[in-house]
Amino acid sequence: MVPVALGIVLALVACVAIGLAIRARSDVDQHRAAADQAVAALEQQSRSSADAQAVQTLVLASMEEGVLLFGPDGAVVFANDSLSKHVGDVPASADLLLPNALRDAVRRASSIGSTTIAEVETGAPTRWLRATAQPVGSEGTILLVVRDVTETRRLDAIRRDFVANASHELKTPVASILAVAETLGDGALSDPAVATRFIEQLERDADRLGRIVADLLDLSRLETGSERIDRVAIDAMAEEEVARRTEQARKAGISIAVHVDGVPAIRGSSRDLGLMLGNLIDNAIRYTQAGGSVKVEVRADRETVVVRVSDTGVGIPQRDVPRIFERFYRVDQARSRETGGTGLGLSIVRHVTENHGGEVTVESELGQGTVFEVRLPTAPAAP
Ligand code: ADP
Repeated sequence: MVPVALGIVLALVACVAIGLAIRARSDVDQHRAAADQAVAALEQQSRSSADAQAVQTLVLASMEEGVLLFGPDGAVVFANDSLSKHVGDVPASADLLLPNALRDAVRRASSIGSTTIAEVETGAPTRWLRATAQPVGSEGTILLVVRDVTETRRLDAIRRDFVANASHELKTPVASILAVAETLGDGALSDPAVATRFIEQLERDADRLGRIVADLLDLSRLETGSERIDRVAIDAMAEEEVARRTEQARKAGISIAVHVDGVPAIRGSSRDLGLMLGNLIDNAIRYTQAGGSVKVEVRADRETVVVRVSDTGVGIPQRDVPRIFERFYRVDQARSRETGGTGLGLSIVRHVTENHGGEVTVESELGQGTVFEVRLPTAPAAP
């Protein structure tokens, strides 16, 4: 503030001086206009530097990161509003800074004269803080910036798990293909009956690889959103998706029915909504025993279109229900694999639903059956 006040005083002094000089001249009016202009320019300059300072203060106050400035003696000379969210009460000096790892970072930055980074786990519930301590100028001032990286770390862990799981899923059929090829090469080819069995195995593994890769590609595309450029008649689409699977259901000894009310078209991606319906109906068939039934219903409910896929199948244990939409989560690994599951179907369903501003819910009873319900708004959700 001092430089601004000083600037204003200097500006006024300059204006008075200009005014006096001008008055001594003969053409008073002309020079007064020039003086007025000079005064306006100086005032503008003072205002700009005051504005710049106000902007700086606002920026620091609205930052998510905590900012702490220590003077050469270690005393705190500035702390922004966010700091206490990260480290609790603002300490009076570097020696009182907590957690310890942050204090150590400040000390190290001060003693070695270069930037030091520390990451520390703190508090309950646990949060991860990442702090950067860096010397400013040559006087021994240290700037500490503290960021909450809990969410970034959580997402990193999910990504790492996903890569590990995806690699594992891909490795299994690849290993099987290699083993079968080796066996065929070692002589199994000369026995036609054995060779046929192994070749069928190769086809199954290749098919499985193809399905995993296709689902992974769909999932990665869906993570960036759905292109909502079509007017989609979900009722007609449900009828088509059921018709496409009637033969599969018949072979499995399952009856399948579809009931649709006329519903308004929704704005969305027909490709993605088709994937969503297909996955729900496939699952209903795959997790239902012979003699069971699957029903697909589409109806309107106020501003939403409701798609209900119910089956009389194996059901899902309550403890697993919250996790079934996770990528690669399966209740019964063997049954999923046997029936050609990739563990990604419901994850795709959830992404498509959310991309269309809707929600998906599930109700299930072990041994009795499962109902998935997807609600999609007919009016496009606000961006
Ligand atoms: P998958 O390819 O294994 O079927 P999904 O992501 O489609 O993978 O489903 C995840 C898990 O949820 C399945 O492995 C299965 O255990 C369970 N599940 C999904 N749909 C049903 C259903 N209709 N009935 C019973 N269990 C189901």
